[in-house]
Amino acid sequence: MADENDAPVLTDRPKKRKSVGRQRDLAKKARVSNHVLGEDYSCSRFQCFQGTTHEEGEALINAFNALESKDSQDSFLSSLIKVESVARRRPRPELEDRAKPKHRSYAFHIKVQREGVAKAVPVCLKRFCAMFGITHRRVRTIQTALKKTGEPKV
Ligand SMILES: [Zn+2]
Repeated sequence: MADENDAPVLTDRPKKRKSVGRQRDLAKKARVSNHVLGEDYSCSRFQCFQGTTHEEGEALINAFNALESKDSQDSFLSSLIKVESVARRRPRPELEDRAKPKHRSYAFHIKVQREGVAKAVPVCLKRFCAMFGITHRRVRTIQTALKKTGEPKV
């Protein structure tokens, strides 16, 4: 740096205004709001990334990041996950007893605003995670909670 060759200006004290509490708050907020939209990928199941525009994705993740805590994010995510019990065409109770623990499947969707109307778009798990920049593991934790409590109150 050229400045190093200049005589130091002693009167110029570096102004460091550290507010630790505020920084801690910001760091906490940063952890909650640092999710980024995942990369586009080729999805054979739902053609998820063709189903929404990049702008819709950005709007969604911005709304997600704006939620003030992990808890409120989790309940937001819960509202987008539906527990589906597997439908049986012919109920055979005598077989059900021997059946393995009941299989559950989960349906994921996202909500986008189109022409002022909220529209639910079904997506796969991979897309769901990419959409909010979250891990499968976080989704699994929410699924486990949903299984215990049943459907979330929306
Ligand atoms: Zn997909």
